[in-house]
Amino acid sequence: MNLDEIKSKINEEYFHKSPPFVSKYLPLMPIRDHEKFISLKEGSTPLIKSKVIGPELGIDLHFKLESQNPTGSFKDRGSAVELTKAKELGVKAITVASTGNMAASCSCYAAAAQLPCFIFVPEDTPASKISQSIAYGGRIVKIKGTYNDAAIMARSVAEQLGFYLAGDYAYRVEGHKTAVFELLDQMFFNVPDAIIVPVGCGTNMAAYAKGYREYMELGFVDHMPELVAVQASGASPVVNSFNKNLKHIEPVTSVSTVAGAIGIGDPIDGVKALDAVYSSGGFAAGFSDTEMLEAQYRLSKEEGLFVEASCAASVACLIKDGKNGKYAGKKVVCVLTGGGLKDPTTILKIAIKPPTIYPEVDSFLSLYEAKFFEGKTVSFTEKDKVLFEKEPDLPTLKKTLLEHFETSWDEESIKRIKKMIAGFLVKGKPVTFSDLQDAAQDVLETPESPKKEVLKVKDYEVITIKDKKPTAKVKILVNGKEFNGSAEGVGPVDALINALRDGGGDNLEFSLMDYRVDIRNRGTNAVVFAELKLKQKGVTSLGTGTSPDIIQASIEAFEQAYNGFLKV
Ligand SMILES: *Cc1c(COP(=O)(O)O)cnc(C)c1O
Repeated sequence: MNLDEIKSKINEEYFHKSPPFVSKYLPLMPIRDHEKFISLKEGSTPLIKSKVIGPELGIDLHFKLESQNPTGSFKDRGSAVELTKAKELGVKAITVASTGNMAASCSCYAAAAQLPCFIFVPEDTPASKISQSIAYGGRIVKIKGTYNDAAIMARSVAEQLGFYLAGDYAYRVEGHKTAVFELLDQMFFNVPDAIIVPVGCGTNMAAYAKGYREYMELGFVDHMPELVAVQASGASPVVNSFNKNLKHIEPVTSVSTVAGAIGIGDPIDGVKALDAVYSSGGFAAGFSDTEMLEAQYRLSKEEGLFVEASCAASVACLIKDGKNGKYAGKKVVCVLTGGGLKDPTTILKIAIKPPTIYPEVDSFLSLYEAKFFEGKTVSFTEKDKVLFEKEPDLPTLKKTLLEHFETSWDEESIKRIKKMIAGFLVKGKPVTFSDLQDAAQDVLETPESPKKEVLKVKDYEVITIKDKKPTAKVKILVNGKEFNGSAEGVGPVDALINALRDGGGDNLEFSLMDYRVDIRNRGTNAVVFAELKLKQKGVTSLGTGTSPDIIQASIEAFEQAYNGFLKV
């Protein structure tokens, strides 16, 4: 780079005149024909002053909202440069490895450049990120392996087929460094005291250091801020090296974190990221999933910024370090690298499920009066934590509910929750946090037990045999009179419904309108939620049942629908 030439071009007038996008910094990029820069107006992302967290910690805290880029992450800065370069080099296709965001960004810019894009991602990449790439026409291939396996695939494919290898390589850094230039514009060329950057491959961190070095050489600033690298404790090779004062990276073989975008065990630019930390006087620190999720929730609830768990690590760092005053009174920037919609499932993992009710104001009012909305909207309790192995007494249950949901429900609801817990335990299912949540919500959402009980299922038996139709037998009471029924079906629930129809004869009149099951959580002992819609004499009614046993859940739903006559 010819800095003298750049100096002659980038002057005060230039800063005043050029529009605030990545393209503004083209004189600092290795691109031949600026007219051919492939841009979707990336960059120009807001710098937002913290409203709650900063003042609370006594830090002059700012957030650089990189989620506002075209595909929702800072990667677009680099993709614009990479795809322009690929086009300039006249390649026939590009290939890239990704944990998701790189895939979305490269396929987007490949679309804008009219180049095919082949992407390798680890098998467990979130569907939301994959769908984004598919939408842009990216050719996704899932790899049974880690991100590093995917990176090796991309490199080999690029070599064998002569594709352009996009990703965390030299040209990308040229795009990513523009975040520094932009930040300085937004801060009127005052260097902040520290910038906290979430680190995966380390490329972004390396770019921040490069950006500062260039502006120092150009004489625009005279020093670098402390560059702080934050990682997930479950994938923290850079942090490990920093703690041992090493200059090299010792790869981490198994990676485990909710923050997929930084779940990298062997970072390509790890050494450069470490160097950025050392040479700027910063530090590196790792944070647990819970710390990141709590910070993510605080950012959205208290600041209105819904970001990916990975970049919430930067805020988790301040919450932890801010307390001991490291940055008290200092100007600090947290780089919020990606948007929350990139992986909405992380929030769903901690969310208290929103209630589903019938379109009746009374149903809402009963939730409202039961103080449901005074409770939490998220809980950081492990979903599969076992709460009850034997039936709790009412005061214990009440205390547990209060502890986990921060709200107390009326005695009647708690009794119904207790009954449901008993039902789980009878089936041999220990009650976990997530079971308790399901039970509590099902009770709150569904109306109390029916006024009149026309139908009662006394007992049932379902037999399923390999390669044979299932058969079901039922013993039912209709208006107090006992009937027996038996039938076959294509599946156990179908057999059961047929048996009910058979047993009820002319006394039971219904047609099944809809049946839906929802398996809650994973595992062979998962709880099943059944919802069933019946039509009786022109009236449609709904029933629900929750049990670790799908047949039992369906029976409960049937009884409730039949007796409830809940109009829908
Ligand atoms: C890619 C990415 C990171 C990590 O950046 P590196 O350059 O790999 O260190 C962090 N957060 C988000 C949202 C990302 O997409």
